[in-house]
Amino acid sequence: MPAVATAPMIRREIGDDRICLLTFDRPESGANIFDAATLDELNEHLEVIERDASLRGVIIASAKKSIFIAGADLKTILQGAQTGEMRAFIAQGQSVVNRLAGLKIPTIAAIHGASAGGGYEVTLACDYRVASDEPVTRIGLPETTLGLIPAWGGCTRLPRWIAAEKAAEVILKGKLYSAQEALKLGLVDEIASRDQLLNLARTKLRGGKRKPPAEPKLDQEIPAPRDHNPAPARALEVIKKGLFASTQQSLAFELDSIVDLGKTDSTQNLIRNFFLAEKYKKGTSKARSEKFVHAAVIGAGIMGSSIAQWLSSHGVTVILRDIAREQIDRGLANIEKIYGDAVKRGLVTQEKAKEGRARIVASMAPMELRDVQFVIEAASEKLSVKKEVFRELAMEAGPKTIVATNTSALPVSELAEVTVSPEHVIGLHFFNPVSRMKLVEVVMAKETSEETRDRSLTFVRQIGKLPVIVRDSPGFLVNRVLFPYLLDAAELFESGLDAEKIDNVVVKWGMPMGPLRLIDEIGVDITVDIGSTLEKAYGRRHHVPTVLLWLRDRQMLGRKTGAGFYKYDGKAQMPNDSLTQWRRALHGELEGAEGPNIPPDWHRDPRLRLREDELTHRLIFLMVNEAARCLEEQVVELPEDADYGMILGTGFAPFRGGPLRFAEHFGLKKAVEELERLAQIEEKFLPCEILKKHARDGTKFYAE
Ligand code: NAD
Repeated sequence: MPAVATAPMIRREIGDDRICLLTFDRPESGANIFDAATLDELNEHLEVIERDASLRGVIIASAKKSIFIAGADLKTILQGAQTGEMRAFIAQGQSVVNRLAGLKIPTIAAIHGASAGGGYEVTLACDYRVASDEPVTRIGLPETTLGLIPAWGGCTRLPRWIAAEKAAEVILKGKLYSAQEALKLGLVDEIASRDQLLNLARTKLRGGKRKPPAEPKLDQEIPAPRDHNPAPARALEVIKKGLFASTQQSLAFELDSIVDLGKTDSTQNLIRNFFLAEKYKKGTSKARSEKFVHAAVIGAGIMGSSIAQWLSSHGVTVILRDIAREQIDRGLANIEKIYGDAVKRGLVTQEKAKEGRARIVASMAPMELRDVQFVIEAASEKLSVKKEVFRELAMEAGPKTIVATNTSALPVSELAEVTVSPEHVIGLHFFNPVSRMKLVEVVMAKETSEETRDRSLTFVRQIGKLPVIVRDSPGFLVNRVLFPYLLDAAELFESGLDAEKIDNVVVKWGMPMGPLRLIDEIGVDITVDIGSTLEKAYGRRHHVPTVLLWLRDRQMLGRKTGAGFYKYDGKAQMPNDSLTQWRRALHGELEGAEGPNIPPDWHRDPRLRLREDELTHRLIFLMVNEAARCLEEQVVELPEDADYGMILGTGFAPFRGGPLRFAEHFGLKKAVEELERLAQIEEKFLPCEILKKHARDGTKFYAE
């Protein structure tokens, strides 16, 4: 791979004490990374160090504010994976890191900022590791989460420095740890304040060269991870095999394994997802320097209160308004709970939580909104209610206030029409639970101005969410694509398939939970509401089956009421017997003498005579088809908007790369044939035009 260095990435300074300080400082960048050029440069420094007999030690440090070394350059890795050239880059890294490990003088890494993947593996080749105790210091080996394994000695050296079981946990989970946690795990030897870090490093170097503390051993059997992403299992295999082999052999296992993984679709998809996250985080639209500090949220229900909490935790003061006293009380209790949980989980300090809570003022009275930069309406999902709220807001808001709605499926343009400045109206569709879901659909209504769009994108990014722009149309992107799948699963259940069977096949395919469980989580009532709006717009594909109405009418609304498609008792989940009885009675009526005792695997309905893979495809292809339609109708601009939106908004199996990417891997021609076959029984499966066109022309959604 070409190694082009325009300016030095690493400074070498030698002090009077003959300690050599190598400071990573990539020019014109906030981060250090390892690309081929940086590896070459490190190699040259090491060569000089090897030749200088007067040197007494080496310190590796970074000049960046918040990053030590972020890791290997993923662009080089993805490119290498696609072209089959990955081996050379990984081998180059191994050889440079080995050279560092082989130095005759003591070495230490002084870590301040993120030290991840290759950026931590380089420190494992040192005799010591010390870290600053600041929050920006995050240490770990996240490779497996990207479908890779630590292959610059991470799987080999970490199990030798700390117990193999602990090393396996760090590598398999792929988490980044704070300095305190890293110290506890043994990932670093000592911590200090940032200004004391280099002094500490110099002191530690006096300890001289050092060997890993213990003989390699594995006391406990580590269970093989069960994951669709093959990387954790592969990493475990390398750790176990490598532990009792020589370092060289173990590194060879690392190299072979990462090269194998790089060839898989799932690894390439996971790396692409990483780049998509970066893209949506940074955005391409004109960045605005406006800082958003004042907002109002209308409606203190589950969404309104959660949004208010989120904004307040990101430095925004919030006026939270509702028409019902008890809703305000409930909303404030919800805010209290979210902050409380975050403190318990160590995500924020008590003090920060207190400051955050204090930014929210809740009230039933209309308030002055002229200085508010953003109003987010999260009142009940009724057009008449929302129109009323918008009419009122139009009078209270200032000339620059953006008025956004959090509606799930109502037309934003109709709300804009009742205001005096529709160019300031936009949709900001947050997902539930707000504190965990990163996606926000930014809905462009007919008259939304570009300025409003750009300011909204800045706002969404400022509060740490990832925006995807969608056109104002029923269900926008995520619900429109998700619902045919949810509703078909409910319909299949109604026709006689067991809930577990439906949910299990889909989980096996890679979804985080099955569609019926998901309906229970969303709430049957909300599912019916959204489904009905979508059915009006799109017809049969979004048909709401009777079973959902039956559940709703009996207040079996899912997890929140303790029963829906399943019954819930704490964490336990069981079949909902009364629902199954209702279904039997329904079929008994329809089937007369065959009565309520029909055997569970007997299906008169041809839709139900399905093999496992056919059942999965039936459900997933409904999403593929609808996502393709969204592209065709320009609800989203790019295929990655649809794919990434679905991954973020619904947990669509990330290693599959989203519905469109999955369809491409599956083969668009085959996908269309499958849909056409299903359409012979049910019209709702008819493939959309853009899918048919790609299948016919042999073209694809994605250019590369
Ligand atoms: P909710 O019923 O819990 O809360 C709605 C609140 O609005 C209630 O507290 C109600 O008193 C209040 N309200 C009604 N009329 C009002 C008015 N004129 N002025 C001020 N407040 C008023 O509903 P929710 O689940 O929080 O949903 C709110 C919005 O968010 C809806 O548009 C919904 O479609 C959307 N949404 C919901 C979810 C979800 O999962 N619940 C997800 C995304 C979007």
